[in-house]
Amino acid sequence: MRRVLTAATAALTLTTAGTMLAGAPGQAAPTAWGRPTVTAAPQPGAPGLGDTYFPDYGNGGYDVEHYDVRLRYEPTTDRLTGTTTILATATQDLSSFNLDFLLDVESVRVNGWEASTSTAGVHELVVTPARTITRGQQLTIVVRYAGVPSQTLVGGYSSWTRTADGALAVNEPESAWWWFPSNDHPLDKATFDISVSVPTGVEVISNGVQPRPPLAEAGNRTRWIWRTTSPTATYLAFLAIGQYDIVTDTTPGGQPVINAYSTSLGALRPAARASIERTAEIIDWESGLFGPYPFEAQGGVAGPVDGIGFALETQTRPVYGPGFWRRGANTYVVVHENAHQWFGDSVSVAEWRNVWLNEGFASYAEWLWSEEQGEGTAQELFDFTYDSYPADDEFWQVLPGDPGAAQVFDGAVYDRGAMALHQLRLAVGDDAFFEILPAWTTAHRYGNGTTAQFQALAEDISGLDLDELFTTWLFTAGRPDVASAARTATPPAAPKSWAKIREAHELLSHQ
Ligand SMILES: [Zn+2]
Repeated sequence: MRRVLTAATAALTLTTAGTMLAGAPGQAAPTAWGRPTVTAAPQPGAPGLGDTYFPDYGNGGYDVEHYDVRLRYEPTTDRLTGTTTILATATQDLSSFNLDFLLDVESVRVNGWEASTSTAGVHELVVTPARTITRGQQLTIVVRYAGVPSQTLVGGYSSWTRTADGALAVNEPESAWWWFPSNDHPLDKATFDISVSVPTGVEVISNGVQPRPPLAEAGNRTRWIWRTTSPTATYLAFLAIGQYDIVTDTTPGGQPVINAYSTSLGALRPAARASIERTAEIIDWESGLFGPYPFEAQGGVAGPVDGIGFALETQTRPVYGPGFWRRGANTYVVVHENAHQWFGDSVSVAEWRNVWLNEGFASYAEWLWSEEQGEGTAQELFDFTYDSYPADDEFWQVLPGDPGAAQVFDGAVYDRGAMALHQLRLAVGDDAFFEILPAWTTAHRYGNGTTAQFQALAEDISGLDLDELFTTWLFTAGRPDVASAARTATPPAAPKSWAKIREAHELLSHQ
């Protein structure tokens, strides 16, 4: 995907970075009876989870199990009002804790008691409960709020995209701040119930399934109700509100398929359908490579012509900007976003510096699809990519394994990340490589992973020391030398799939 906020927040978050770890859990060591030996005074929860790139994203001191996000939206004014109920467990004794949120908060209650609130940093809502919280306590946090998200800016930017007929809440890593208070980091996943009341005739699409049909409400309004029962990172929850045609179906395996097409697409609509309607086929093929599909529903949303310029792997249902359909159907972006359901959504980054574990893998899935379709082998795509960036190109200066906060979506994270995986495949052989991929998605299913953990798994399965390969391809500036044995004999012409993959990557990454 593509975003513009990184540089702004990377700079802004430095103001709170210094205090990041000060509030780390201060609980005393348990005794043999499992009780603290001393009673430390309750401390504030940390304002971040220690992410190297985004230190104040997420919060310490509690773990969220579920978000109930209940909203009311007015497309004509972009006014959003809502109540989010957060079910969480305290992981330390807490005098206060933070939520990540930007809209105006009317009230916060913690276990029924009105809490006091203040704001801090760029996006921190500090909640001080009426009573201190003890470690292990179950928390019900009810936040009532309102705002105009498209006019709520951070560094001049809003992740909430207002369109002619509605809005899109789709972005990475920052998206939740504009529509629900959260512990906004992939380390704290939760399930979601999301419902939105809109004027009747407007559609609302979100994650998962619809546990019941849209509900008529007073005042000629309709409430759309969505539920996702798999652990979901906060940035992978989404809203698409506007005029959509919804197409539903069931896969041969019995999974619900819910696709939606903005009515604004016009002449782009057939190409969008010819791509997104192949989602079930693509997920079936990917399941054969990556292991069982991790979620309870499938689908895709073709966003409006005045919406986003990228695509995002929003869980169970990626959202695609219109640019992917301008030159005809593009199944490569559908392959990419659905590969993320395994690599990114089910297995999420433990820190954003690990982003190549998302983008390198989703990009390599495109190379595998090209191979499957007879449109060029992964080797041919590797060779052509390698040759298309001269050794002195700045592309080779970005380290996919540690690109920096401002470059998490740099083209090198995608393309050199895919090249790193291809080198791994060559080093360990196809048998081991195609054992490593599902082993990874199984070992970290619904959780998080790091590059070091992936390397360890690959070494375990292959029996090889892969340190030099990972260091060379992920953590060393400059174009690595490639032995002639690892290249096709003749300098490659562009594989047939090249143009479509390029088109997709120009919109997905910063090229
Ligand atoms: Zn991606």
